[in-house]
Amino acid sequence: MDQRTIRITILYDNTAHVPDLNAKWGFSCLVERRGSPVVLFDTGPTGPELMENLKILGIDPDRIEIVFISHPHWDHADGLEEFLKHNDHAILVIPPAFDFSSTHKTVIASSPASICEGIYTTGELDDFEQSMIVDSPQGMVVITGCSHPGIPEILKVSREFGSIHALIGGFHGFSELDLLEGISLVCPTHCTKLKDEILARFPDKCIEGGAGRVIEI
Ligand SMILES: [Zn+2]
Ligand SMILES: [Zn+2]
Repeated sequence: MDQRTIRITILYDNTAHVPDLNAKWGFSCLVERRGSPVVLFDTGPTGPELMENLKILGIDPDRIEIVFISHPHWDHADGLEEFLKHNDHAILVIPPAFDFSSTHKTVIASSPASICEGIYTTGELDDFEQSMIVDSPQGMVVITGCSHPGIPEILKVSREFGSIHALIGGFHGFSELDLLEGISLVCPTHCTKLKDEILARFPDKCIEGGAGRVIEI
């Protein structure tokens, strides 16, 4: 991972950055942080498509040590069952709203907490969704699924862990764009309704998403 601390690879998204990858409505990314376990954030809508994208990107599913599910919507969680057929050891971190049982060790994320070295959860917000917070030398990197609890609330809870450097994922109907002023890197993707407006207002710090996009921090 050269000199960078964190590498985020978008595995599944509404669009494809790398043309051969499967892309439909949904989201999943791989989070690699130096010194931390490898995390799969969400699984996209279908297991076979996720597995195929992993294969095309040359990522061995067995390397994944934690699977973090943001919320129980199909476009984030329906690939999980198939993924677990290819990985027998990953620990699951899920919000209480996700009714899922398996033989895998499962952590229910009901409140803000540390998951492992350098990685935290906001805990379930709005009785539905958790976001992930990854520690980097520049500040916290916040990764969201659909942001149903709202970006303002997610940022507020995330700031309890430190100042925010980056915000990546689906922003849903987020419209309070002033809140992005102090954030250095923004990747509005998946369900972000105002994606074009965000890209136009913050061209210097925005990165477009899409399956196959790699963001290094
Ligand atoms: Zn979604
Ligand atoms: Zn959703």
